[in-house]
Amino acid sequence: MREEWIIVAAHRQNRPWHGETVEHAQSALPDYLPDCYLCPGNLRVSDKRNDLYTSTFVFDNDHPCVGFDAPQDIAKPEGIYRNRAAVGIARVVCYSPQHNLTLAELEAGEIAGLLRVWQEQYSELGRRKEIRHVLIFENKGEVVGVSNPHPHCQIYATNFIFKTMETEARVSQRHLAESGRILFQDIIKAEHEDGRRLLFENETAIAFLPYFARYAYEVYVAPKRTHASIATLTEDEVTDFAEALKVLLVKLDNLWRMPFPYVMTLHQAPTDGGDYRGFHFHIEFHPPLRRPNLLKYLAGPEIGGGNFLSDTAPEEKAAELQAQPEVHYNQTYRDGEP
Ligand SMILES: [Zn+2]
Ligand SMILES: [Zn+2]
Repeated sequence: MREEWIIVAAHRQNRPWHGETVEHAQSALPDYLPDCYLCPGNLRVSDKRNDLYTSTFVFDNDHPCVGFDAPQDIAKPEGIYRNRAAVGIARVVCYSPQHNLTLAELEAGEIAGLLRVWQEQYSELGRRKEIRHVLIFENKGEVVGVSNPHPHCQIYATNFIFKTMETEARVSQRHLAESGRILFQDIIKAEHEDGRRLLFENETAIAFLPYFARYAYEVYVAPKRTHASIATLTEDEVTDFAEALKVLLVKLDNLWRMPFPYVMTLHQAPTDGGDYRGFHFHIEFHPPLRRPNLLKYLAGPEIGGGNFLSDTAPEEKAAELQAQPEVHYNQTYRDGEP
């Protein structure tokens, strides 16, 4: 999908490590914080007040990276260089009024509610003629730079298409033209036939750690039927997708009994009116940790050379996740079990 090779060097997994570690102090967080800019009823830097929301809450980012007031006439650069104004709309979606929950700890029904919000946002923003792409993503955990644990994601609706989705769209269309098949359907088929990297499936949704994983715990969730975006999922598909997402996230958290950090991105077709019949909506998780307290560093091969070098075999990592229970460890505590 990205037109790149992954180098698997799983024999290097146990070489001694003398580098930096990540600490995850398990502090008990309150369910409401008076100075959290995402908690219900609180004042934000813009002097706007959050609703007293009870499920999800969407608002325009007070510090947008893209806005429609970005300078439009920018000086032409010298020589071979080109530039264009990057404009759009940046929003924040709070998953829950509860400050101390994570996506993994929401009920499947609450996750389904969030999926419906994503459907609405993609449709509403994507319909605007100046918007060519809607990027929905969540950065989770201090190791990916998030200091506020209040569960939330961000939306960048922009007049340009982000590179990865542009590549995936182009490669998917080419595959469709050449073979008459949907690329992601071929991936699902291959994962089914092998079976070792499947993590969960129900009638209409599937979760797996792909053959081509670049990160140790890189995992995907997708509907089984092809949809170019989340917007066209039926109510049944939303319910199944929420269940798959829930099980996957619980397994990740249970692995080291810690809130598993990740970058989560919805991969959806651009909204520029192009032909995206080959595009199959999916969510990708890129967790930066290889082991508890051990980050995957992007270095010479990745940053320097442009290809990921994976220190782990995807089948082994998938087996670790398959072995995890489908009940969150925090839930187990609450139910009074050890
Ligand atoms: Zn909060
Ligand atoms: Zn993708």
